[in-house]
Parts: sequence; structure tokens; C-alpha cells
Amino acid sequence: MRTHPYTGATVAFATMHGKQYLAQQAFHEILDADVIAPAGLDTDQFGTFSGEITRTLSPRTAAQVKARLGIQLAGTPYGLASEGSFNSGFGFLVEHHEVLLFIDQSRGIELVEGVIATSPLPPAREISTVDDALGYAAAVGHPEQGLMLRGGAVGELIEKDLISVESLPGVVERTLRLSAGYPLTIAPDYRAHRCPSRADVITTLAYRMARRLATACPECHTPGFGQLDVERGLRCSDCGQPTRVIAADIHGCGLCPHTVRILRPDRVAAPQWCDYCNP
Ligand SMILES: [Zn+2]
Ligand SMILES: [Zn+2]
Repeated sequence: MRTHPYTGATVAFATMHGKQYLAQQAFHEILDADVIAPAGLDTDQFGTFSGEITRTLSPRTAAQVKARLGIQLAGTPYGLASEGSFNSGFGFLVEHHEVLLFIDQSRGIELVEGVIATSPLPPAREISTVDDALGYAAAVGHPEQGLMLRGGAVGELIEKDLISVESLPGVVERTLRLSAGYPLTIAPDYRAHRCPSRADVITTLAYRMARRLATACPECHTPGFGQLDVERGLRCSDCGQPTRVIAADIHGCGLCPHTVRILRPDRVAAPQWCDYCNP
């Protein structure tokens, strides 16, 4: 039987919100490795979605710091951490960036899988009645999808564990009364255990990471060979100028400088993507 470099390994996923369950299947199926959450970890110290603690680190750095802390607490050389960010630039769509970072301290490698997706959840909304809140709750799929209420003079967090459908109208009514005169906002809770669409994204990234770890560098045989970058500049089919369309994927090793350029199947780009033909 073929064994992977991570067969029987214990990987510490630095999480307080059950993310280890999102990676267990991928790491077990593909690598025969275990994923656990280290006890006694406080990831809220690095910032929260609900904003009680401001995030000051970049997502990648925050994931790095968390993964290292998980490694230390669990006493294993292998660590995972993920970091999500949600931005609604134009008000209607929310862009979800998620990075999943893996550290193997014994080999000295650090790998990142990331995704930018449109969140299926609506942005935060100002509410003035209980019905507004119930309509929003139905649209996001509460109670599986969690909710938060924010309001008052400084927009502080009022409620973040709105778990039951039965208690929601009462909590909203009371909060509306207390925040009289100030706007009250309802928003999705993006913590992984309260946000099924984010949990799905983390699961997908866990599969990508496990498959990457099952791929060895053709040069130095270190595990984790995979996509590092893309190369833009596919040429326009009309005028031949380079466009911003991706021409090739750059795969590389986490340890040695070996890279491979893998061309995308399309040899030319449609003129609609060309700055010259379609400015
Ligand atoms: Zn062109
Ligand atoms: Zn290598």
C-alpha cells in the first residue's frame, strides 16, 4: 500500500469554532491524517467578525500567527488556520475572501490555498420593525445561518448568539425599544459554525490543501507542490495584443525554487477582454 508523508500525522487546526470538522474528511480520505483543534486556544485575540476586537493583521499574517499558536499548543509540527473577510463594496453583493494556511514545521514549508467568492448572503441591513428582522432572517436561512444585531449611538454589538427562531422576535422588539432613536442593523454571523456557506468554502479549501499535500515536488520530493500564481497576458484573437486573461498557471514547491508553467487550454482570448479592441 502506498503511504503519504502525512499518514498518521496529527494536524492542529487553530479554531474555536469547529473548523477541524470541516477539514477532517479531506485530510483523512486523501492523506490518512487526523485533524484536531488544540485545547485552550483563544483566536478572538486576533480580531472578530462582530468587531469587539479590531483586526489589525493581514489575513495571511493572522492565519500564520494562529497556525503557529495551534502547533505550539497541540505539540505537533503540523498546523492549519483559516481567515475569512467579507466586504460589500457596492452594497448588493458581498465578496468573501477565505485563505487556508498549512504549516509543516518539520519540513519548513508554509502553503496557502485561497478563494474569492460572492457570498450568497445579503449585506447587513438597517431595520426598524420586528418584521424587517424576520424577513431578513428568512432570507439568510436562520437559524442554521446565525445573525447579529448592532446598534446604539456607537454601533456596538448588541446580540450575536441569536440561535432560536422562537426567541428572535422578542429579542428584536426589546433591542428596538432600547436603541430608540439610533439605527439598528441586522447582519449575518460569519463565524464558521454559524455560517454554512462559509463552512462549505473552508471544506473546499481543505480538499484542495489535502490534494496539494499529496503532490510531491518533481525536483526535491517535498510534499505540497501546487499553484503559486497565475500568468496573465493571453493574446487577443483579433489584434494579437496581450489581455488580462490568464494564459498559464504557475505551480511550484514550498521549499525549493522549482516551478512549472502550465498553459490554460484556450490559446487566444475573445476580443471582449481586449483593452485595445474593446476599451
Ligand atoms: Zn484585441
Ligand atoms: Zn521542491
